[in-house]
Amino acid sequence: MADIKFIYKEVIKSFFLSFKRLSLYAADHPLSKEILTSLFKMFDVLLKESADILVVVGLNVDEMVVNNEVLDSEVLGAREIYEKFKAFKLDGVSFLKGLTYDELVNFVKAMAQAATLDAGKQAPLPALLKDGSEHIKIKKIHYEKIEEGQKVVGEEAAGTRTSGMGPGHGGGTGTGIVQDVFGYIKSFLTSKNEDISVSSQVVLDEMDHNVSKVTDAIIASARESGDFEAVIKKFVSWISRHVVPVIVEKKKDPSKFIQKLFDSFEKDALKCYPRSEEIIEECSDDIKVTMIESAYVTHYAQSSKKAVNAAAKILSDEEDQRRLMPKLVSRLVGAGVVREDVQDFIGKVDAELAKDEEVTISKKKLAKFVKISERFEQEVAGRVRAETQELSRANRRLAIEKERSDEVMRHLADGLVVVDKEGKVIMMNPAAEKLLGRGSREAVGRSLVEGLKDEHLLAVAKGPLDDRDETRITKEIEVDSKDETTKRVLRASSAVVENEDGKTVGMVSVLSDITREKEVEEMKSHFVSLVTHELRTPVVAIQKSLELILSRTTGQINEDQERFLSISKFNLERLNRLINDLLDMSKLEEGKMKLVPSEFDLRDIANEVIASLASWAKDKEITIKLDLKDEPIIINADRDRITQVLVNLAGNALKFTPPKGEVMIALNLLESKDGICAQPCVEASVSDTGIGIDPKDFKRIFSKFEQVSLVSPAGSGGSGLGLPIAKEIVNFHGGAIWVESQMGKGSRFIFVLPRQFKGANK
Ligand code: ADP
Repeated sequence: MADIKFIYKEVIKSFFLSFKRLSLYAADHPLSKEILTSLFKMFDVLLKESADILVVVGLNVDEMVVNNEVLDSEVLGAREIYEKFKAFKLDGVSFLKGLTYDELVNFVKAMAQAATLDAGKQAPLPALLKDGSEHIKIKKIHYEKIEEGQKVVGEEAAGTRTSGMGPGHGGGTGTGIVQDVFGYIKSFLTSKNEDISVSSQVVLDEMDHNVSKVTDAIIASARESGDFEAVIKKFVSWISRHVVPVIVEKKKDPSKFIQKLFDSFEKDALKCYPRSEEIIEECSDDIKVTMIESAYVTHYAQSSKKAVNAAAKILSDEEDQRRLMPKLVSRLVGAGVVREDVQDFIGKVDAELAKDEEVTISKKKLAKFVKISERFEQEVAGRVRAETQELSRANRRLAIEKERSDEVMRHLADGLVVVDKEGKVIMMNPAAEKLLGRGSREAVGRSLVEGLKDEHLLAVAKGPLDDRDETRITKEIEVDSKDETTKRVLRASSAVVENEDGKTVGMVSVLSDITREKEVEEMKSHFVSLVTHELRTPVVAIQKSLELILSRTTGQINEDQERFLSISKFNLERLNRLINDLLDMSKLEEGKMKLVPSEFDLRDIANEVIASLASWAKDKEITIKLDLKDEPIIINADRDRITQVLVNLAGNALKFTPPKGEVMIALNLLESKDGICAQPCVEASVSDTGIGIDPKDFKRIFSKFEQVSLVSPAGSGGSGLGLPIAKEIVNFHGGAIWVESQMGKGSRFIFVLPRQFKGANK
């Protein structure tokens, strides 16, 4: 009779393997059927020959009790069954006589459901286990450890000692168990478990017999798992850690086994692990040293080359050499090898290693580096692609924007010219080409003034760039058209273009054709001068006649006649003034006014003006004052015209100041005036306490025929030409005129003239 413990061990193994298999295959799969039939057979034989079988978990993790036989955890599957029972909170299960195949299968199935349970985790009890079935009973057993020889006391389990186990049943199950070693390895490889608890010896024996069957199973499970490489690597690493040490322990050379294993590996698997040496590379230092030691012991005496090669193979990695050499020496010396022999051996190994010193990197590492570099390349390529895409998108956007602004420029009615710092044309739109009479192709890159006669054009291109104060300028320029028959007058409004640092980089000029405007203006002033000239003669004639009548040269007149004639004379004088103003204006505009400069003291003029306005001021009860320093204000200018300016300003001041007000003329010598006059000059001003002027009208009042004041003091009806004429005269002298005022408080008109007249400024 076979050892009963041995039989129970086999039962536990089969039991465990059958639920393992059922967790991988369906119950009716031939592989499942095979193990289940074999298990059932064992149960059947046992139940026929003995009492019921009671499987109980022991007090300790490493114990399993079957009918009072304590089996340790070394029994294949004992630990797993223990874990599973604990997870289901089962203490034991008894299988009763009459157990059917189906009952057994159902039970195993239920166990299998939890095949992937993590050890120690509480699991819900599957329905079948809870209810049990007729011949399978779940036991809650109270048991305690008893001393040797002590009687076992407990529930029925204690008494169910199996006896009379028949011989022969073990042989029948042998194949089943062995086949399931593969299944077990497979499920281990595809699970997350780091280790396998199957005895390495069992696996090794099996692989020794049928290594290709093992590798087939491994490859199949690697395929099923979906992560082929990971499974193969896990297997190789497991072989290194568990199987190789067993071989080495027996003082055998593992390389044969490894070679055999690799020979039976499929090509696909070899792709992941192309060298059998890698199994050895993964072994612990101790195993490596043991392997070299055994190679030395086995081969060195007969063939030193064999031993040296084996050692060199194991020590191919430089790092390994550094670490393992000292250990190897002490191991060999410890094993009783003579020191000289050790030195000789090490020397030969060193020489062998030196042969291919440049190959110090293992293929595995090389493959890793290649992978890293490939990943790096991909990453770089990806980033470059993304960046390029972004850039080309930005480019496209820019192109569209440029196209749009080009389009706007092309269709602009006004000419647009962009020049750089040197005055060279960078860009010019079709309207500008037309206005300047040349194509952009010939103009771009050349100076704007090149080939254009008018010196004003120079101002467009350069003027503002030289003058740091001005960033904007509007000038009228005359351009000869291509056929030279007509002249064009353009208004060029130019603005300086500055970069972020405030440096001038160029200028933009907008050119508008004002030729027609100019023509109309010219015609108008020509007409005005003609008409006024024609008017003057009859007016003078009427004036003279009136004077004769009023002087009673022509006879007596009564009081009423004298009154009406006086009113006529007064209005005639106004009309005369208006005609004179108009004439002056048109002369100024046509540039026909001739200035006659002379040197005089401006104080004299001021005094004359005050004297001439004194009676009017007295009538209006307005004080006129003169603000002077006690020094002569000598100036070289047209005396009459300057008098005209001062009379105009003082007259306006009186006109727009209510009674009891004050008018003041002030004169000052200046060395220069910012932005107006760089040389010694005179500043004259006329201030009043009158109605004031709205700042928005400051510019307008200097334009022709502009009268902004709603209040037109009686008898003071003006022409709206006084200020424009004053402005023209001052400009002609190279000076400037402007106004400062506050509504309701008064105004101050100021003009500045250079002390030395230098010719017209227009
Ligand atoms: P006018 O012949 O109407 O005086 P001007 O050209 O001399 O024409 O003046 C134009 C306008 O400017 C005036 O009609 C008036 O509205 C305004 N103006 C001129 N001087 C003054 C002043 N000192 N105070 C208020 N408004 C004035």
